[in-house]
Amino acid sequence: MLEVKGLSVQYGKHRAVDDAALSVATSEIVVILGANGAGKSSLLKAVAGLQPPGTGARVALDDRELVGLQPHQIVEAGLALVPEGRGIFGELTVRENLLLGAFARRARADEANNRHRVLALFPRLAERLDQTARTMSGGEQQMVAIGRALMSAPKMLLLDEPSLGLSPLLSSELFRALGRIRQDGIGVLLVEQNARKSLAIADRGYLIENGRIVGAGRAAELASDPAVQRAYLGGAR
Ligand code: ATP
Repeated sequence: MLEVKGLSVQYGKHRAVDDAALSVATSEIVVILGANGAGKSSLLKAVAGLQPPGTGARVALDDRELVGLQPHQIVEAGLALVPEGRGIFGELTVRENLLLGAFARRARADEANNRHRVLALFPRLAERLDQTARTMSGGEQQMVAIGRALMSAPKMLLLDEPSLGLSPLLSSELFRALGRIRQDGIGVLLVEQNARKSLAIADRGYLIENGRIVGAGRAAELASDPAVQRAYLGGAR
């Protein structure tokens, strides 16, 4: 279980995230919806240790405090981030990218098993293990990025706009894969602008506006809330 309390991100005078609190259970998909610039990426980065989370912040994974740990120690603790823009190594092959994901001590012993699971999740990668990552399509690169994060054997997977730039077909495939990751007992926290598809797969959601969490609920409730429909679902259905 991931528990976040009192988390803020400040860039100079600009407060991008203000006193955020949220939780994600194991085997749960939670989506954070918000417009451009609402603070979604900043929030995920602070949870993953890539931005200072402000004084008094609490980020706990299964009761282990993550605030103050280095990003690689947070990966060791079982939390993996797939950043916006994917962050894969373009000049390396798919196989090499996956291997780098298994660098975490917690994952080394089980590397073969984890790779087997990743390739079962994304069969397309199995056919392309020796392809250079930068020559792959956007959707395939997103699979490499998620696969690499899963190779660190996370308990909690954070994804920053995974469906950005993907075709409708590929985003559906991606959201289905998140459902299978949840079945494996991994918690998933994603930020998305694609509210319709993410709410369809998620268990719960949070709404973020100008850095503040302004709403929360079961995904089905959010999807049928007229205010959410106006703001994030392109009007009432
Ligand atoms: P998007 O969907 O457009 O990526 P977001 O919800 O992820 O938006 P953030 O990227 O977290 O939002 O940005 C929140 C605010 O913080 C924005 O106003 C942005 O300009 C600002 N910001 C983000 N990163 C920095 C930075 N490194 N330095 C200064 N300001 C930043």
